[in-house]
Amino acid sequence: MFLDKIRKIFLSNRNREINFKLDLSNLTNIYFISLVVFIAKSVALIIYLVSKYFSYNNGDTYLDFYIDLFCAVLCLVVCILSGAMRKSEQYVKKHHRLINAFVGLLFVLFLIWGMFASELHYIRGQQIITFYIVELCVVMFVKLRPLVSTHIILFSYAFYYFLLNYYIKPGGIDGYSFLMMSLFSAAVAIANYKMTVNNIRYKLKNEILNKSFMLIAEHDVVTRLKNRYSLNQKIPDYLQKKVCVALGDIDKFKSINDSLGHNKGDDVLKYVSDNFIEIFGKESVYRYGGDEFLVVSVSDDYDSFVRKLDDFNKKIANSDIVKDGIHCTFGSVCGEAITPIDFSNMISEADSKLYIMKDKNRN
Ligand code: GH3
Ligand code: MG
Repeated sequence: MFLDKIRKIFLSNRNREINFKLDLSNLTNIYFISLVVFIAKSVALIIYLVSKYFSYNNGDTYLDFYIDLFCAVLCLVVCILSGAMRKSEQYVKKHHRLINAFVGLLFVLFLIWGMFASELHYIRGQQIITFYIVELCVVMFVKLRPLVSTHIILFSYAFYYFLLNYYIKPGGIDGYSFLMMSLFSAAVAIANYKMTVNNIRYKLKNEILNKSFMLIAEHDVVTRLKNRYSLNQKIPDYLQKKVCVALGDIDKFKSINDSLGHNKGDDVLKYVSDNFIEIFGKESVYRYGGDEFLVVSVSDDYDSFVRKLDDFNKKIANSDIVKDGIHCTFGSVCGEAITPIDFSNMISEADSKLYIMKDKNRN
């Protein structure tokens, strides 16, 4: 039980989509960190060179200069590489292992740089703050698998402790505080990884839920066509261009319902919708009301639009879904709507034409 809990702490994520987001977040963080450090180190190098030029000694040595120069060049290379990788989603998706190796290598390189920089301070009898800061920054911004990150952190602390305490200046490090710092860094690395994975998981779940809610909200359940809500969202796309709209109503649909039942009525609605999609495409057809459909075309002129409506009626007239076939009456208008109100007026005009045609057909 206890061992199981420990194992869970060190368990890494295996979901591909989460790993992709994790890699992207690592690359983005590395890109910005290396950019900031590159700028900071470049400024430090310029200050060093200027102070040398004016023969003013600010306490830095040649070694400080070359360590900063190494760091600036390293950060520039890392910045360019991570920037290029994070730009291509396909690359990030395909090269999870390579990106992890790259991130792991940087993790180690940053720690080595932190050790070097702090060692100079340690020799001068100063605090090894840089090492702690680098270690904490790395574990907060770079999320590696818990098993990998804890090994690197604990090994780097142990190595650094022996290096400083046994080879460089014995007794200069408080072992207890050092051990606590190493455990704290490892705990932050694990917590950061777990929190990020959980956040990504919740975000992905929400994205999927949002997508399915939008699908339900924008479509009609019987015909699967887009509904009026969806039409309202789409109106801006239909403005300031030539557009044809047709409002169609199935003739004598009520009698199909009354004589053959509502299920048959639903089948007829589905059949009619499928034929609309076949002729005008899924994006152009909306279920407007009970047995009313709206067709919007941005690619047809009036003649070709009316021809397509005739073709549609010819097609459904020959169907054997009901004995005498089906027929729709249309009212259609072509023009250019500038505002959403103009577009609504076009639909109203098509509606009026539809009812004039319906009256004509009845008489
Ligand atoms: P007209 O020829 O003048 O168009 O008359 P109609 O018989 O087609 O009747 P109308 O268009 O006025 O009525 C449409 C009917 O469609 C009324 C309603 O019961 C039915 N209806 C609306 N929604 C659905 C649905 O989702 N499924 C089924 N089966 N029937 C529906
Ligand atoms: Mg009708």
